[in-house]
Amino acid sequence: MDGAIVISRVGGPEVLEWARRNPGKPGVGEVLLRHTAVGLNYIDVYHRIGLYPLALPFSPGVEAAGVVEEVGSGVTELKVGDRVAYTGLGAVGSYCESRVFPAARLFKVPDAIDDATAAAIMLKGCTAEYLVRRTYPVKSGDWVLLHAAAGGVGLLASQWLKSLGARLIGTVGSQEKAELAKKNGCEHTILYRTEDVAKRVKEITGGRGVDVVYDSVGASTFMGSLDSLRPRGMMVTFGNASGPVEPMSPLLLAQKGSLFLTRPTLGHYYVTREESADGVAALFQMVTSGKVRPHIGGRYPLKDARRAQEDLEARATVGSIVLTV
Ligand code: NDP
Repeated sequence: MDGAIVISRVGGPEVLEWARRNPGKPGVGEVLLRHTAVGLNYIDVYHRIGLYPLALPFSPGVEAAGVVEEVGSGVTELKVGDRVAYTGLGAVGSYCESRVFPAARLFKVPDAIDDATAAAIMLKGCTAEYLVRRTYPVKSGDWVLLHAAAGGVGLLASQWLKSLGARLIGTVGSQEKAELAKKNGCEHTILYRTEDVAKRVKEITGGRGVDVVYDSVGASTFMGSLDSLRPRGMMVTFGNASGPVEPMSPLLLAQKGSLFLTRPTLGHYYVTREESADGVAALFQMVTSGKVRPHIGGRYPLKDARRAQEDLEARATVGSIVLTV
């Protein structure tokens, strides 16, 4: 028997409960995976509170690293002992010590990337990858506004954007986070809890506005993000840390400068194995080359997932948080 965090009803962090269970045996095309590190993500909170509903009961978590412990029939690409990692919404259930998992959705981790780092980057780094390379392909010299720049996705995206030559403005919740964001690629930071974001962006860009906004904060930042864009700029709303964005009329996009608006999600950018392998390879390359340097801002034992989620929701974390197994 192994341990897992299980949610039997939606609600506050108290619904995260530790349980014992049998992980089962791998079937055709599957492996038994022993986790070594599990990534914490804001989407775990959306799953817990029911904003993104899942059938109950379930184990939360969408990214992890581990070692192949047993191989099911038909698996040819992996063998016992291989170090692997995974991400994706179809992967919900990573808050556990071991699990059976489809081999086709696993990626071998390069020797130069340790397990905690792999668990820290699979969802957050792949998100940074598709946002800056594919949702809006950022070019050298582009002005970019990135919200929650000192967070998990935030620090990885900041470093990636810096390496592309972007002129990056990051919003942050505190002075300490501002300093961290600046060390990780932000040319300017805005304290969005007290400052007017659009006004500051216009000042910084000489009245022009940014080419693209990456907004994962949602309700509290959405309008300020639209007002920060140049005419025909791209608004990428990809999360709801402060709550979901209210419905709006497309006419608003015309009034604010013939803006483009997209609401992407990783699942639609990592559809096929080929597409996923390309994205993961790009991420691993950025990390092994040192252009992206994952920042693990905290480690909590898996059993303490409740405390980890409380800290994430309280805006008390920076960078990627890892649950240790
Ligand atoms: P973060 O580490 O970025 O944590 C969220 C941060 O949001 C906080 O640290 C805080 O930073 C900021 N924030 C602003 N307002 C609030 C609020 N009211 N409550 C809580 N936090 C707030 O989390 P992740 O890196 O895991 O995820 C970042 C975002 O990206 C999430 O919204 C997530 O859902 C989204 N995401 C979307 C994906 C997609 O494909 N669409 C995939 C992966 C992630 P500060 O203190 O600086 O304000």
